[in-house]
Amino acid sequence: MSDCLFCRIVRGEIPATKVYEDELVLAFKDIRPVAPVHLLVIPKRHIESLVTATSDDAEVLGRMFSVIGKIAAEQGATDGFRTIVNSGRVGGQEVYHLHAHVIGGGAQLPAMIKY
Ligand code: 5GP
Ligand code: ZN
Repeated sequence: MSDCLFCRIVRGEIPATKVYEDELVLAFKDIRPVAPVHLLVIPKRHIESLVTATSDDAEVLGRMFSVIGKIAAEQGATDGFRTIVNSGRVGGQEVYHLHAHVIGGGAQLPAMIKY
């Protein structure tokens, strides 16, 4: 996906404040943070969304979620955080390269969504 925003960040074509990187996963600061710690954790390989992810993506999805705790603590979310994966239209996804928001580092977050 040559014109995908987050693929371009992976390739270094658009600057981002990177906080973690391995061979599968990249984490960087969200450009519009909603809390003192607001990170985006993404697969380096383009995966559109959890709507379209399959078992072929299991390794990278496992990696994403297994490194989040360490990254969050290193960035200052030492007393818990919230992980959000907006997926598809109803989920409010804006960037169609799968990403987990990691939000914390401040006061207790508001309660879960009420519908
Ligand atoms: P979504 O609504 O798709 O779950 O979240 C997309 C997130 O990407 C938003 O929180 C937005 O602030 C962030 N974002 C959009 N463009 C950029 C960018 O160029 N750089 C960074 N670091 N974050 C971005
Ligand atoms: Zn992409």
